[in-house]
Amino acid sequence: MDTILLKIRTYGDPCLRKKSKAVKDVGPSERFLINAMVDTMRSHQGIGLAAPQIGLNEQIFVVDVGDGPFVVINPQITKKTGADFMEEGCLSIPEVLIKVKRAEAITVVYTNENNRRVERKCSGLMAKVIQHETDHLNGKLIVDYASLAEKIKFKKKLSELQKSNKGSES
Ligand code: ZN
Repeated sequence: MDTILLKIRTYGDPCLRKKSKAVKDVGPSERFLINAMVDTMRSHQGIGLAAPQIGLNEQIFVVDVGDGPFVVINPQITKKTGADFMEEGCLSIPEVLIKVKRAEAITVVYTNENNRRVERKCSGLMAKVIQHETDHLNGKLIVDYASLAEKIKFKKKLSELQKSNKGSES
């Protein structure tokens, strides 16, 4: 299959702040999109990519923490335990790293690419990435967790990104 690369929307793009809609049915067009999202994530050495990041406000994201692509549609995090901090980056906010406090382990209920509703328990990096990507579906970004020091440190970078998106339509 041909590799299809999608344009990644960056900080300041209105798409990143919108709440995504639930997917009613996973059909051929959704599977095509999912494949393109996996290709796009890989081409940027990313470990996660959510649909709003490619300009589509639908509840879909892909994750790959080293053991192959994992597709998540209409997720609901039903349980969270523990907490710790991890420095996170985001393909939509290049060169910015923010320390984010998240649950250490989670249970997520989601629809897979075969339209099945399934449950998965995970911890560590996988749990962190799923929480990061679920935030994207709610219009939330790592900068929303920034400390005052981080806000000051990345102020210039963020305003540059924002300026580059001025006047662009979603
Ligand atoms: Zn992100």
